[in-house]
Formats: sequence, structure tokens, C-alpha cells
Amino acid sequence: MGMLTGKTALVFGVANKYSLAWGIAQALASEGAEVGFSYAIERLERRVRPLAESVGSRFVERCDVTSDEEIAQVFARAAETYEKIDILVHAIAYAEREDLEGLYLDTSRAGFQTAMDISVYSLVALARAARPLMSNGGSVVTLTYYAAEKVVPKYNVMAIAKAALEASVRYLAAELGPEGIRVNAISAGPIKTLSSAAFAGLRDMLRYVGERAPLRRNITQEEVSKTALYLLSDLSSGVTGETIYVDSGYHILGMPEPPEKTT
Ligand code: NAD
Repeated sequence: MGMLTGKTALVFGVANKYSLAWGIAQALASEGAEVGFSYAIERLERRVRPLAESVGSRFVERCDVTSDEEIAQVFARAAETYEKIDILVHAIAYAEREDLEGLYLDTSRAGFQTAMDISVYSLVALARAARPLMSNGGSVVTLTYYAAEKVVPKYNVMAIAKAALEASVRYLAAELGPEGIRVNAISAGPIKTLSSAAFAGLRDMLRYVGERAPLRRNITQEEVSKTALYLLSDLSSGVTGETIYVDSGYHILGMPEPPEKTT
């Protein structure tokens, strides 16, 4: 018997084996949860389906979160397949590449709307759609980043989206708490994935953080998954509205020390 035997999870945001969502899905499945998957666009199905099948999943559905119809459809399918769900994982973010370089000041209205819609509103829309299926309570986790709080070069509009995402976590937690539904965020340190690799500053960020974070290293997909398991299981039954950092302790630093010289 695993810690999540008898529980059902819906995981949004697997693009490939490097996705933080995939690490979380594996952790959930290893504790006995039945895991359903949703992917963004047709092209990703051939990557997501074999991963889903490797953890025995019978639910792999497309859902572009910019579409209310697709969200309604995927939850209707989940209701047919599972009747209830206990866990919702939101690991989705997107901004146009041109909005992740240059100045935040130059963000276009359309770029701002796209980043907020896909990276923030989608959590609200998915949580609302999941609510009727969480009649026995539930746990929702999303993924955020420290640039929501402090300026990180080039993070630009995505930082503003993450600030709104973290505020959404608190509002959703307050509104859904009376129904026994908890909502939390994991603030992950930088880690190479499909979407982060598109971010021009990633290499420098990994070096900078890895050299200066209290643990003097970057984090792993598995470390994010283990904290997700805590937040998505009964181990965190008294915790909601929280942002938990999995970042080798980087966020506690006021003035990071330069790396030790090796010569
Ligand atoms: P990833 O590219 O594997 O995952 C991002 C997912 O968002 C993809 O599966 C993509 O298909 C999905 N997505 C984008 N637009 C979508 C749409 N319209 N509809 C449905 N899905 C859509 O990268 P990841 O790093 O695993 O990202 C997962 C989450 O973790 C994101 O919220 C990201 O901001 C966050 N995060 C990542 C890092 C990092 O360094 N990798 C650090 C902190 C937080």
C-alpha cells in the first residue's frame, strides 16, 4: 500500500521526461495514485502517451488551457473515467520568446495577456473545473519561481505572471479551504527543461545559483517531486496557501557570496 493508494491525480504540463510535471507524476504513481495526464498540443502526444503508459495510466487527453471548451472537455472525460479526483497538478507556463529578452518595459499588451492567460488564469480555470470532482477534498499544486519576488534579469513578464500566480494560490486556498481543498505552490530553483531551455538566461542562472546557494548546487527534478508528494498527500494536511521553496536555499540570501576562488 502506498501513501496515495485509492487516490486519483490529474497532471497538466508534461511535455517530455524532463518536465517537472513528469517527475511529480512518477512520484504520485510510485505511492499508488492513479494518474491521468493532459498535454497541450497534438505534437506532444507521442511523447506524453508512452510516459503515461509507463506508469499504467489509462487517461491521456489533450487540453490547451487557453480554450474553455477544451478544459470543460478534459474534466468531463475525467468525470467519466474516475468519478472523483483528489489531486490536481498545474505545471504550465508560457510567454512569447521576445518578451523574455530586452526590457520588461517593452512588453506588448498581447504578450502580457498571453503570459497571464496561460501561466496564471489557467490555474483558476483548472481549479474551478476540478472543484466538483473534489467533493471529498483535495490538494492542488502549482509551480512558481523566485522572480515573482525579486528582480531576475530577463525573466520579465513571466516574473509578473508568477507574482500573480502566487497571489492566486492564496485566494484559491482561502476560497476552497472550507471544502477541504488545499492549494499550494512550489517555488523551484532553475532546472533545465523544455521551456526553461528557451530562456536565454538559463545557463548563467544555473551557474550563478549553483555556485552561491547555501547547498552550493542546483536542484533536481526528483527534489521538486518529493516536495510535491508532501504537498499532495496527507503529510501536509494542515498546510494551504503556501509557497515552498525547493531552491537549495537560494531565496534566503540577501547578498549572495561570490564563489570561492580555486586558484
Ligand atoms: P516544461 O516545458 O516541461 O513544462 C511546461 C508545460 O507547459 C509544457 O508541458 C507545455 O506543454 C505546457 N503548456 C504551455 N502552454 C500551454 C497551453 N496553452 N495549454 C496547456 N499546457 C501548456 O517546463 P517545466 O520547467 O517543467 O515547467 C513547469 C512549470 O514549472 C512552469 O510553471 C514553470 O514556470 C515552472 N518552473 C520551472 C522552473 C525551471 O527552471 N524549469 C523553475 C521554477 C518554476
